[in-house]
Amino acid sequence: MSDLTPLEAAEMLEFLSRHFLVKDYINLPGYKEAVGYAASLLRAIAAGEYKRVKHAHWTGRTLVNGEYHFTCSHCQYGCSHGKSKTPIWDYCPNCGYSMEEKDDGHDG
Ligand SMILES: [Zn+2]
Repeated sequence: MSDLTPLEAAEMLEFLSRHFLVKDYINLPGYKEAVGYAASLLRAIAAGEYKRVKHAHWTGRTLVNGEYHFTCSHCQYGCSHGKSKTPIWDYCPNCGYSMEEKDDGHDG
């Protein structure tokens, strides 16, 4: 990981584009748009518009009073997913982690 902050990276990219890369790449289709887009995303990150998504997965499956319960691999919060044998929540309602991480294969 770079020591540059997102804002410093945006400013460096724009500086390089203006002063060094322009004469070699200015005529490439999409070059100016790509640099502008990358810099705008870096500035949005610097402004706090994006947060790093933290991933976990549902683990364990227990049947409690006719409903399937799964446990968050990050915070160990357990909750009902109703009658579904597979998890229906795509995030943990306790810690907020996204449940896009691959499971450990021990949920069945
Ligand atoms: Zn959780």
